[in-house]
Amino acid sequence: MEKPVREIRINPIVPSESVLVATARGMRPKKAEAPAPRDTRSHVETCPFCTGNEHMTPPVIASYPAEKNWEIRIVENLYPVLGDDRQNPNLTFGLQQTIDGYGRHEVMIDHNRHGIAIHEMGEPHLALLFGAYRDRMEQLYRSNSRLRYVLVFKNFGPAAGASIAHTHSQVIATPVIPDNVQAEVSNSRAFYHKNHHCIFCSLIDEALTFEATIYDRESGEIRRKINVGQYVIERGKRFIAIKPFASRYEWEVHILPLAHQSDFLRISKDDLNDLARVMRRTMARLDAVLGGAQYNYFLHSLPHDKSSEDCAASYHWHLEITPRTSIPSGFELGSGLFVNTVAPETAAEKLRAVEID
Ligand SMILES: [Zn+2]
Ligand SMILES: [Zn+2]
Ligand SMILES: [Zn+2]
Repeated sequence: MEKPVREIRINPIVPSESVLVATARGMRPKKAEAPAPRDTRSHVETCPFCTGNEHMTPPVIASYPAEKNWEIRIVENLYPVLGDDRQNPNLTFGLQQTIDGYGRHEVMIDHNRHGIAIHEMGEPHLALLFGAYRDRMEQLYRSNSRLRYVLVFKNFGPAAGASIAHTHSQVIATPVIPDNVQAEVSNSRAFYHKNHHCIFCSLIDEALTFEATIYDRESGEIRRKINVGQYVIERGKRFIAIKPFASRYEWEVHILPLAHQSDFLRISKDDLNDLARVMRRTMARLDAVLGGAQYNYFLHSLPHDKSSEDCAASYHWHLEITPRTSIPSGFELGSGLFVNTVAPETAAEKLRAVEID
């Protein structure tokens, strides 16, 4: 029987983002998000993203490999949250400040099969998909110097924000750097100046080598054992999937390149192949444990912006996967403190125990 954990864990990269890990029963008033109804059909006559319905989408931006027999297709978003149609100047009035909602919002149809899940896609396809992310990010950065960040993300399931069942990702290019990316960039730069190491590389090293027993000061009882590989979910030749020690979400997993790399745009062909393998296996583990859980994933990479130019050594790109297994409570929204009711050590153990081919 496991000892209940109740402690506030500080995110090592962004210390202002802490999480309350509380596994005792009383800490579980949270409602569970229902698994997304899984639409496993491969073709749906009325779906605008399905093959044969290309005329139903906004204009195509790119497709892989060729337009007619595409496997991945990028189109403009029908209801963009940011766009380039308006040219309003920025506005400041008293405490009200606005930045023109200039930007791009695009949809990437991940696969021509309607209801295919990420872990069911072949590794060559996943390599193609991540390659398409890279190409499109690069093109957007090049297209306009006002764009300071290109965010690639995926929503799966209605609670995770997906409004169309056909598997797809989104690309949003904005004139501002998102706060959470900026916090990671600034904090890792400060860490680098002090320690001359990339904090993400240090976390990977720690995950691979650390072994310790932490005792309670008063009772002398073991409070926590940290074992080699305890937080490692999946390890490839070039990528690693880690369960963060201060995970905000119960089943959150991060994937990082093992060798230091700040900018996702630098990813090589060999990298893509290994990323595809680590990604497929990680998603298969999550699916086996959570069965169709709604989730988001998003890419955090070095912004293409003057203020981030000196961060190539200190920032380390990564993919954050955040399954939505509970609904945030008033306590979480009011305090900004995330509550995680599954000990990250336990979650990691369950994910690692899944047998996959
Ligand atoms: Zn479809
Ligand atoms: Zn690094
Ligand atoms: Zn991040």
